[in-house]
Amino acid sequence: MRAIILLGAPGAGKGTLADGIKAASRFQHVATGDMLRAALKQGTPVGREAEAFMKRGELVPDEVIFKLVEARIAAGGGDDGFMFDGFPRTLAQAERLDALLAAHGGKVDHVFLLEAPRALLLSRLTGRRVCRGCGAVYHVVNIPPRRAGLCDACGGELYQRADDQEATIANRLDVYERQTAPLIAYYDRQGVLTRVDAARERQESVAAILAAATDRGR
Ligand code: ADP
Ligand code: ZN
Repeated sequence: MRAIILLGAPGAGKGTLADGIKAASRFQHVATGDMLRAALKQGTPVGREAEAFMKRGELVPDEVIFKLVEARIAAGGGDDGFMFDGFPRTLAQAERLDALLAAHGGKVDHVFLLEAPRALLLSRLTGRRVCRGCGAVYHVVNIPPRRAGLCDACGGELYQRADDQEATIANRLDVYERQTAPLIAYYDRQGVLTRVDAARERQESVAAILAAATDRGR
C-alpha cells in the first residue's frame, strides 16, 4: 500500500492541493483537520475533546489523533494508496504512522513539503472561506466564488473558520515551527522528502506530485 504525505504550515495549501490530486487519482484522502471538524459538528466524544485545542490553534493530543487515523487506515486505502494531509504533525505521530503502515506491509513513499513565506501563509489564512455544505475551500481574493458568500459547487454558505481569526493564526504558525517542522529533517533522513513551492500554480504542483507518486505516465 502506497502512502504519501502533504506537509506544510497552515495556509501552505495542503487542502486545495489535496483536492486537485484527488480529482486526478485514486488516493484515499486522510485529512485529520477535516475529520476533527466533522467530529466536532457531530458532537462525538472525539469532537468534544478536540474543540478547545482547535479553538486555541494548538495541536489535539496524539492519542485522540491516533484513534481517528488508525480507524481510517484499517478501513483501507484507495487504488493509489493513502494521501495524508495535516497528519503527521508531531514526531510521535510520524513514528506511529511508520509502525501502522509497516503492520500493513507499507511505508511512507513520498513526503511533499509545501514551502511558502510567512506573508503568503498569513494572507491565505485570513482570506480563506469554507463551504458549510461540502467543505470546498475559497479565498476572498485568490479563489473567489462566482457569487459572493456562496459555494460554486453546492450553493452552500461560505464561512470563516474559527481558527482563521488573526490571533489564532499567529499561534498556529508558531505551533507548526515548534512541533511539526522537525518532521522535515525526519523525512529528509529517510530520503523521501520533495520540496514544492507553494506559490506555484496548483495544476503544475498536482501534475508534478502525481508523476512522482503514482504510475501514471510511465
Ligand atoms: P491547518 O493546516 O490550516 O491548520 P487543519 O484543518 O489541518 O488546518 O487543522 C486544524 C486544526 O485541527 C489544527 O490547528 C489542530 O488543532 C487540529 N489538528 C488537525 N490535524 C491534527 C494532527 N494531526 N494532530 C494534532 N492536531 C491536529
Ligand atoms: Zn459547497
